Amino acid sequence: MHQIKAVFNGNFDYIENIKVSPFSRAYTFSDSVYEVIPFYNKKSISLESHIERLQRSVDALSINLDLKIVTTEINQLLSSSSFDNGYIYYQVTRGEDLIRSHMHSDQMKTETFGYITPCSFETKRLNVMICEDIRWGRCDIKSTSLLANVLNMNNAKLHDCDEVIMHKHGILTEAGASNLFFIKDNNVCTPALSNNILPGITRSILIDALSDKGIKVFEGDFNHLELKTATSAWLTSSTKGIAPIENIVNIDNSLSLDDSLYISCKEIFDSKFFG
Ligand code: PLP
Repeated sequence: MHQIKAVFNGNFDYIENIKVSPFSRAYTFSDSVYEVIPFYNKKSISLESHIERLQRSVDALSINLDLKIVTTEINQLLSSSSFDNGYIYYQVTRGEDLIRSHMHSDQMKTETFGYITPCSFETKRLNVMICEDIRWGRCDIKSTSLLANVLNMNNAKLHDCDEVIMHKHGILTEAGASNLFFIKDNNVCTPALSNNILPGITRSILIDALSDKGIKVFEGDFNHLELKTATSAWLTSSTKGIAPIENIVNIDNSLSLDDSLYISCKEIFDSKFFG
């Protein structure tokens, strides 16, 4: 018995009671999108921004979804849970498709699934490795098709790493499950948004919080070799917050965790994110 609280197609139940059809297009085509919404002290963080991004994801796939119902379900999972800190996973799938045809019908009943789980948001120092970004051309959609991320991150695990930093033809994109920031020449830099990057909610929380304090973030195309001269670097995501990179194993550069600019960025972020 896992006793994980969940909601499937509008019905709230424990996860072990939920039955999903093997013909769900989440299984057969990975025809689904998702969100991970963090909460701290029982309050969701940037729920509206997550809902807006989910709207963009379902619009990109032409999946029908009532975002008001999704918001209510997420709030209901939160209020029915005893966890103080954690996240809600919410997935939207085109539906059950007995024909298993690439070309889907427009009449399918959208399938939704969410569950709530605790998370400590501990700051962990990361070992990462640089690798080629082998993903598809629409990484801005938060799709559950994450096989390339899985391959790259498990290769990193073989090298005792916690994450990857990916580049496409030499241009830095992002990490396997987070966005990248680094400090170079005393400037805070991050890869600019494009079809090759997920527009992370944590990324934008950090950029806005720094801007409020007069710190500009340089968004642009950065070559992966520029990381060699970065003084510090970190990754952002809804479950990691800001996670400092201690070591990039396949380039010759030791990053500083005492960099004063990095420390200020983290303090500014933490007070905004955790309130
Ligand atoms: N980039 C990728 C590929 C991700 O999978 C994630 C989070 O899952 C992020 C960035 C960070 O996004 P967010 O800050 O919205 O959690």
